[in-house]
Amino acid sequence: MGELDGKVALVTGGARGQGAAEARLFGEQGAVVVISDVLDEEGERTAGSLGCDYLHLDVTSEAEWEEVVSNIVERHGRLDILMNNAGIFQPAQIVNTSTEMWNRTVAINQTGVFLGMRTAIKAMIAAGNGGSIINTSSIAGLEGGFGATAYTATKWAVTGMTKTVAKEVGKHDIRVNSIHPGVIVTDMIADMVTGKEDRMAAKQPLRRLGTPDDIAEMALFLASDRSSYCTGQAFTVDGGVHG
Ligand code: NAD
Repeated sequence: MGELDGKVALVTGGARGQGAAEARLFGEQGAVVVISDVLDEEGERTAGSLGCDYLHLDVTSEAEWEEVVSNIVERHGRLDILMNNAGIFQPAQIVNTSTEMWNRTVAINQTGVFLGMRTAIKAMIAAGNGGSIINTSSIAGLEGGFGATAYTATKWAVTGMTKTVAKEVGKHDIRVNSIHPGVIVTDMIADMVTGKEDRMAAKQPLRRLGTPDDIAEMALFLASDRSSYCTGQAFTVDGGVHG
């Protein structure tokens, strides 16, 4: 028996990295999983290897959110888990942050999470089965993130939206929590990490960098009924760096 038997999950940005690891674990635990991304070829390939569906979804598009959530509800009758994972990271101190970079980061990391929650919550309330929404923030959503003004602003927004929306939708048995990854080795930070893994790991309390599977395990806990009395909370998975 799986922890997510009978549940239907949507994982945004699921073509690779943490999203792909979350999709794999959710599927292994019995969920019907749909992954979405803007990287269609990689997304189709990942979905093929996981045995799940792929749907194109640019998280900045209100129309695409409506289409994808309607499609899932038509096909599977419900949506129980929304894993808001998609995000971008373009490091820059404030003096080097162009307005274009700022707006793009806000559109994907912040507005994308807002649109996803709003669309999914309407479908969850209509279905009447409750639900679990997991928003991917960062340790940059808990402290200052030197050299990443736009990114840090959006991740704090995710932390705040999570706490607020959790209070609004608890009465529908919809839980909303955020995950705060530390340094997780994925394509997103390859430029910062490649060749420096050992040096970076030596500075971590647990003496290693994080993996997508480390995050997927926390996502599974939050998606499943094991966390049924947790909502509006920030869960840090960073090897002990923030604290
Ligand atoms: P990643 O770059 O491998 O994955 C991010 C995914 O989001 C990609 O597949 C990308 O195509 C997708 N994406 C980007 N823009 C999109 C859009 N407009 N619509 C839909 N999908 C879009 O990186 P990752 O490390 O797996 O990142 C996953 C999440 O974790 C992100 O929200 C990121 O900010 C967060 N995070 C990562 C780290 C880290 O160290 N890797 C640390 C803290 C938080």
